[in-house]
Amino acid sequence: PRPATTHDNGWWFDALKEGRLVAQRCADCGRVRFPTGPMCPSCHSLGWQEHTLPMEGTIHSFVVAHYPPVPSFDYPLPIVLVDIADGVRMVMNTVGSEPASLAIGAPVTIEIIATDPELSLPFARLKETS
Ligand code: ZN
Repeated sequence: PRPATTHDNGWWFDALKEGRLVAQRCADCGRVRFPTGPMCPSCHSLGWQEHTLPMEGTIHSFVVAHYPPVPSFDYPLPIVLVDIADGVRMVMNTVGSEPASLAIGAPVTIEIIATDPELSLPFARLKETS
């Protein structure tokens, strides 16, 4: 299943295709925001610039889905909410991580993976801890 793209988020998927993980920074008050939207929730400005995010974060929360199975996903399916930076949190799937090793607060690196020729998405990979 593909995410729905609109005028307000198409640029975000385009950035991922080009290998950039980004959010929006308000041109007037500087607030960084995600998910994408036309208006700053703090000052109602319509002006914004692309804001590059670091390719790492920590797990804020997660679930491991078992049911109902959706075709094209592998189960059990970990879904993580990642604290990235500047107050931005993003929901994503994981790569190379056993569900049992996921933990709140665990550090992850973020990788952008092309799931098909038209779509690239961010995935979280648990950092090696020793
Ligand atoms: Zn603002």
